Amino acid sequence: MTDLRLRGVSKSFGEVTALRDVSLDVADGEFFTLVGPSGCGKTTTLRAIAGFETPDAGSVAFGDREMAGVAPEDRDVGVVFQNYALFPHMTVAENVAYGLRFREVPGGGSREERVAELLELVDLAGFGDREPDELSGGQRQRVALARALAPGPEVLLLDEPMSALDARLRQRLRTQVRAIQSELAITTVYVTHDQEEALAISDRVAVMNGGRVEQVGAPEAVYRRPATRFVAEFLGDNNVFTGEVDGGAVRVGASRFRVAGLDAPDGAPVTLCVRPEHLAVGDATNAFEATVETVEFLGEAFRASLDWDGREVTLRVPERPEARRLTVGFEPDDAHVVSVDGREPAVRRVEE
Ligand code: ATP
Repeated sequence: MTDLRLRGVSKSFGEVTALRDVSLDVADGEFFTLVGPSGCGKTTTLRAIAGFETPDAGSVAFGDREMAGVAPEDRDVGVVFQNYALFPHMTVAENVAYGLRFREVPGGGSREERVAELLELVDLAGFGDREPDELSGGQRQRVALARALAPGPEVLLLDEPMSALDARLRQRLRTQVRAIQSELAITTVYVTHDQEEALAISDRVAVMNGGRVEQVGAPEAVYRRPATRFVAEFLGDNNVFTGEVDGGAVRVGASRFRVAGLDAPDGAPVTLCVRPEHLAVGDATNAFEATVETVEFLGEAFRASLDWDGREVTLRVPERPEARRLTVGFEPDDAHVVSVDGREPAVRRVEE
C-alpha cells in the first residue's frame, strides 16, 4: 500500500511546457482522477509517476521513497493505456501471465492460479484460451487490467482506458473498474478528459488546465464550489455572470443578486456562477427576465437556452418552458463566487 506525492513537477518538450509546478498528494488506496481538456498535461503527469518521463524539476515519491532515477520496471506500477496493447498472437491467459514475467507470483501460488484468479477478478473466467481478436473492446480492456494487476503492483495507473469504447460500455466498464479498485484497495491514478466519468468514479479529482492543477477535491465539492472560472465551466454546464459588488449584492446588468457568503467591498469585480439546475422558472430572491431561444428534450429534463440582454443563460427544468419570455430566478445559496476583484485563487484545495 502506497501514497503518492508529487512536488513542483515541471516538464517541457522543446518549446511546449507540458507541466508547470504540479504538486499532488494521492492517499493510500485512493481512486484519484486527473481530468482536463486535451493537452492539459494529464498523460505527462501519469508518465512522470510511471517513470516514462523524467521531470525537468520537482520530485515524485511513493510513500517515503523518492523515485528520481528509479526505472519504470522497478517502480511497482501497473499501467493500462487507451489502446489495449495486448499481444495479438498470445491467448488471454498468456497475456495476463506476461505481466508476471519479471515477478514472483504474489502470495506464492503458481502462475496458472494467479492468472485464473485475475481473470475471475475481471469477470473473464473461462476466457483464458481465447485470442484478443475474439474479444470485445471492453473485454480486451479487462484483460489489460488483469495483466497490469497480475504482479500485485502498489500503484495502478490508467490512461483513458475507456475512450475507445461506446458510451454504454464505458459506463459499465467504469463501474467494474471502480469495484475492482475498491476490492483491492489499490492506490489508483486515472486519466480522462470526460468530466462526467471523472465525477462518477473518483474519490477525488484534480482538474488540470494548461499544465497546471487548478483545483483538487472530492467530486461533489469541486462541482459545487469550483475555485476558478475554468473549473466552473469545464465540469458540467454552468452560467457564469460577471458584475460588481454594490451594497452587499452583485450588480449584473440591471439586476442585483444576493449571494451567500459574499465578502468584498463595493465596486469589486466579481464572477459568479449558477448551475442550470439551480435556475427555476418564476420569481425568486434573485430574478431576471429572459427570452427563450431554444429548448432541448434530454429525457429526464429540458435544457433551455435563453438570452438575457445579450448574455447566454442555460436553464435545466423538469417541464418544457412554454412562454417566450420567462422570469427566471435563483436563491443566494445557489450562486457561487469564483473570483473577487478579478483575482482567482491560485489552487484551492477543497476537501469534503
Ligand atoms: P490528451 O487528453 O490529448 O492526451 P493530455 O492532457 O494527456 O492530453 P499531455 O499528453 O500530457 O496532455 O500533453 C501535454 C502537452 O505536452 C501537449 O501540448 C502535448 O502536445 C505536449 N507533449 C506531450 N508529450 C510530448 C512529446 N513527447 N513531445 C512533444 N510534446 C509533447
